Parts: sequence; C-alpha cells; structure tokens
Amino acid sequence: MPEDTSPVPLLNLEPEVDHLWDELNEAIQRVLRSGQFILGPEVEQFEEDAAEYLGVEHAVGVNSGTDALVIGLRALGVEEGDEVITTPFTFFATAEAISIIGAEPVFVDIDPASFNLDPAAIESAITPKTKAIVPVHLFGAPAAMTQIMDIAEAHDLKVLEDCAQSFGAQYEGDCASCHGKHCASDRRSKLQGEMTGAIGHAGAFSFFPTKNLGAYGDGGMIATDNPDVAETARMLRKHGGKNKYHNEVLGYNSRLDAIQAAILNVKLPHVDTYNEERRENARRYSELLADVDGIITPKRTEGHVFHQYTVRVKDGRRDQLQETLSNREIGNKVYYPVPCHQLPVYEGYEISAPKADQASNEVLSLPMWPQMSEAVQRQVVHIVAKEMDK
Ligand SMILES: *Cc1c(COP(=O)(O)O)cnc(C)c1O
Repeated sequence: MPEDTSPVPLLNLEPEVDHLWDELNEAIQRVLRSGQFILGPEVEQFEEDAAEYLGVEHAVGVNSGTDALVIGLRALGVEEGDEVITTPFTFFATAEAISIIGAEPVFVDIDPASFNLDPAAIESAITPKTKAIVPVHLFGAPAAMTQIMDIAEAHDLKVLEDCAQSFGAQYEGDCASCHGKHCASDRRSKLQGEMTGAIGHAGAFSFFPTKNLGAYGDGGMIATDNPDVAETARMLRKHGGKNKYHNEVLGYNSRLDAIQAAILNVKLPHVDTYNEERRENARRYSELLADVDGIITPKRTEGHVFHQYTVRVKDGRRDQLQETLSNREIGNKVYYPVPCHQLPVYEGYEISAPKADQASNEVLSLPMWPQMSEAVQRQVVHIVAKEMDK
C-alpha cells in the first residue's frame, strides 16, 4: 500500500460543522428572526445550562476568555498593585489579564509531568501583596487543585481558574507533585470529580473557535458559586452599571452575543462526546508512540480533555521533527515557544522558571480533533517515528 501523503491539519472543525449543520442553521436563523443580538434569551439559556453542566450557581457570558480573566480578577477584588501568582507556561492572555488591571503577575515554575503550576513552588512566592492565584488547566489537564486550594485558604487568597483549554475537564484529586506522599488534605476527596472552573472562587472560560467548546467567533464566560462575584461580573460586562445610565464603576463592553450563545447552545450537549473522542485519540497516540525513542507522551488521566496532545521531544530534536512534519504538511505547533517571563513585555522581571524554559524547548503538539480517524493518527505517527529513528 503506498504511503498516505495527504496533508493533515492541526485541528479540523469541518466534521463538527457537518454533524451539527441543520441544528446550527436553525439556531442562527432563530436569532436573526428574534432581533435580539446582544445578551437576551439565548445567552440566558446558555448561562443556565453551562452553570448546571459545571455544577456552579452562576455563569456570566462575556466577550472572550481574556475578558473573562480580566472581569473575573476584578470581580474577585484584585486591584492595582496586588500580586497574582500564576504559571509562565501558558498563553499570554493569562498574564496579560493580570497586568492590564494594574496587578503584577508573579510567575512560579511548573510541574514538568503535567505542564501545570507546581503547587510546591507557590508558597515561597507569597508576599503580603499577594491577592490571588491563577492556575491554568493547560492542554485540558486539570491543575493540582487540592494543594492550590489548601494554600489559598491558608493565606486567604482568591483562586481564579483559567479554564480556556479545559471545558468539561474533571478534577481527579490526582497530582504528580505529591510524589506519592500522603496528602494531608481531606479536600482531595471532596474535589474528586468536580469540573474545572467549579473548584476555585471563579473560573474563566473561552469559547474561541478552536477551544473544546468553541463558538464561531469570540466568546467567554465566568463561572462562580458566589452571588456577589457574579453580580459584579454582570456589572463589569456592561459598563459597570446594574442599570442603564446608573454606572457605578468603570467597566467594559464585554457581552456574549446571541448568535454565539445560540451556537453554544447547540454544541454544549455534544461536548462530553467530543471530549471522550479526544481522550480516545490521545490513548491511541500514546499507544502508537510508546516505542518511539526520544518522544515522551503526555500524562493521561480520566479527567483530561486533551485540548492539545502535546509530547516532549528529547535530545534537542524538537525543531528538526517540527520541520519534518511541516514539510510533509502535517499540522503541528509549539505551545508555547516563549514562556511568559521571557516575553519582551516583561523584560526586567527577575524570575527564573527553568522547568518552563525546558518545556518550551521540548514540547510539540500533534494534530488533534474529536473525529480524527485512526488512519490519520497512524499517518502522523509514522512520520514522527521515521524522523526519530534517524
Ligand atoms: C485561549 C486562551 C485564553 C484567551 O481566550 P480568548 O477567548 O482567546 O480571549 C486565555 N488563556 C488560555 C490558557 C487560553 O488558551
């Protein structure tokens, strides 16, 4: 059989559009006929269903994941001059949201096994100015929330989860950083099975089209059990006023629009199936890659939703493998080539995070989408294996 040389995208949204075509059209046309394009019943329906799905009391739809972080931080009381502990190994928006409100991101290093914030590194970064922690459930893997919530409680800090990549991910009380030590916290069993975004004081979600629950434009959401946080977020998303022409604080124009909410209403009931398919693809990738020298497959857990399937490429061979894949038109991406503390915008920050630096030199994300076929996975792995065998 001749080798398949067709291009493979990093993400293919077409099967999903095909699958939901009639429902999506019906939903979009319903909004066109309603004449209500900003907030309104579609948004309220989505907020209600998303809150129920996540197991939180309140969900507040906003314009983007970035705005969900900005508004979430402010709604939790983070102000100018406060310090916020977060991971440097994330999309810039996590840090940007902290900086844009005048607070200071304090980057602590990651746990190399999960790519997520290392809870063991948090405590030494806490100062009297520390106000909050922003863990990121990177690539769809829940961060070590038991330890993070224990630390937050001990130091009276707020926790805003960045769930942009983890819609539908469930926490399992599992954490690589414990190194098998007994976890003193009884929080672990309480949090078992909780959705990411329902564990901290608030969760910030993105519905950017490529996310696990994606709209067909920008969108975001803040999830919380706290009615005051929800009320403040609702105020901030519409110019800082509960009622029109009664603005109380400086806010934003950051509302979820009705067409995006209608699309999300169609997609929400399918998100578990899609996430399960991603998990199954990840399982198969790891099986196929198991004997490939120099490739370290990601840690898999039942609650991981594999927004990305990200391997480590050892021995300085990442860039060569990336070039080979790109030459063969196999989608791939380095998330993230520059950790936040090394970005020009943070020049002068004296922070060392060697594990994040190392990750940015070794990681490579391979093609991943729910409906990806086994044949396509084999095609990708074949090229990876051939290159690594050189
Ligand atoms: C996508 C993303 C964001 C930003 O979401 P937008 O909707 O694009 O503003 C924030 N944090 C992380 C980790 C992301 O992946």
